[in-house]
Amino acid sequence: MALRSWGQLPAKPALDERWWVDRAAALPSIDRSLLAYGNGRSYGDVGLNSGATLLHTRGMDRFIAFDEASGVLSCEAGVLLSEILEVFVPRGWFLPVTPGTRFVTVGGAIANDVHSKNHHGAGTFGCHVRRFELLRSDGSRRICSSGENADWFAATIGGLGLTGLITWVEMELKRISGTGIAVENTRFSGLDEFFALNTIAEARHEYTVAWIDCLASTPRGIFMGGDHVADGDLALAPRKPLSFPLTLPFSLINGLSLRAFNQAYYRRPLAATSVTHYAPFFYPLDGVLHWNRLYGRQGFYQYQLVLPMAAREALVDVLRSISASGQGSFLAVLKTFGERASPGLLSFPMPGVTLALDFPNRGAPTLALFDRLDAIVGAAGGRLYAAKDARMSGEFFRRSYPRLNEFLPFIDPKFSSDFARRVLS
Ligand SMILES: Cc1cc2nc3c(=O)[nH]c(=O)nc-3n(C[C@H](O)[C@H](O)[C@H](O)COP(=O)(O)OP(=O)(O)OC[C@H]3O[C@@H](n4cnc5c(N)ncnc54)[C@H](O)[C@@H]3O)c2cc1C
Repeated sequence: MALRSWGQLPAKPALDERWWVDRAAALPSIDRSLLAYGNGRSYGDVGLNSGATLLHTRGMDRFIAFDEASGVLSCEAGVLLSEILEVFVPRGWFLPVTPGTRFVTVGGAIANDVHSKNHHGAGTFGCHVRRFELLRSDGSRRICSSGENADWFAATIGGLGLTGLITWVEMELKRISGTGIAVENTRFSGLDEFFALNTIAEARHEYTVAWIDCLASTPRGIFMGGDHVADGDLALAPRKPLSFPLTLPFSLINGLSLRAFNQAYYRRPLAATSVTHYAPFFYPLDGVLHWNRLYGRQGFYQYQLVLPMAAREALVDVLRSISASGQGSFLAVLKTFGERASPGLLSFPMPGVTLALDFPNRGAPTLALFDRLDAIVGAAGGRLYAAKDARMSGEFFRRSYPRLNEFLPFIDPKFSSDFARRVLS
């Protein structure tokens, strides 16, 4: 069966898959293209390499060194963020930036330069990476940092796995003194209210994010601000996740179930403040393993856009188009990105506002909606997140990533992906 990405969209299989366990090993000498495969949490095709070779990196999962004084960790690139949390939270250390799932590898987090709810203060994952080793298909190994091979460092962070194989990484962890997050919840209605709340919350909270009901005629949602709690409790165990057992031939997600879910979620009793474990705060979807199977065999798309702050009004048109289409998601996430520059040439964030939504794959109507959204986002000077994408045009990608030409010379001639062939050829 073809390896699918997180969106479970039908894909052609790779010709062979190899498991990588030894970071000192040489890359295979074959005449097909290569691509690292982390933990398959990218929604679209950045991690797929149809008809060619995938190098599974999860076997490179060793911790190498840890400096208890500074929190600097060296580990192999196939280590999962969840494994870092398991070992280091009890010692009082946390990830400096974590995406909405902890089941991603360190290599995958660098290749997509992932962001979190603290982007307004902390920037992207890459901002906290000190060094890594990059193995190229010509056998060369480069240590890359902001001071050594800085151009390779910038190309590989957010480089979508195209510059070679990252074998090990040195990154910073951050101090915590409790597993709890103090959360402040506020219901809002309309985008003006969201932006007003956001301005205040970003000054007060380390983490901010909003959930919005994109099917309502006036966008409404719940704004969350969060901060680590210094309660000294580092041993609180997260609940054991449930698992969705199988992929159904049809999707359980439809207009009716979405509307009902969104209504109930918006109206549920809401404590203004509460303290929760970090796991449900950062990783609500990790509570149900394989939740992506809910969408059935046809899979689903995620559409994540960012708009420059000056063009945030375009969000109204985006949400109007989604609501009018009757398609949309029960987890639309709205968040602003701050000014801290990403180190990567192709990093997705820019100062502005980002919206992420899931859409069941209904074929032509879904793709037609995306084309309408692309036109709005493109005209506003925004762009889409490659980690979530499976269908944007090459023309849109090339136009919206202004540093692409600086990046191109760093692509390893033996590395490729379905995404790269779609948008770069
Ligand atoms: C529920 C959920 C929530 C998410 N929330 C967020 C979020 O809040 N913020 C965010 O930014 N992203 C988010 N994501 C996306 C996810 O963080 C990224 O797609 C991440 O890159 C996946 O990592 P992975 O290890 O699964 O890599 P894969 O998906 O397997 O691969 C991703 C890319 O990394 C490359 N790669 C992997 N390992 C290496 C290596 N060793 N060397 C070179 N290249 C490598 C691959 O070639 C590929 O291009 C979310 C995903 C899910 C499923």
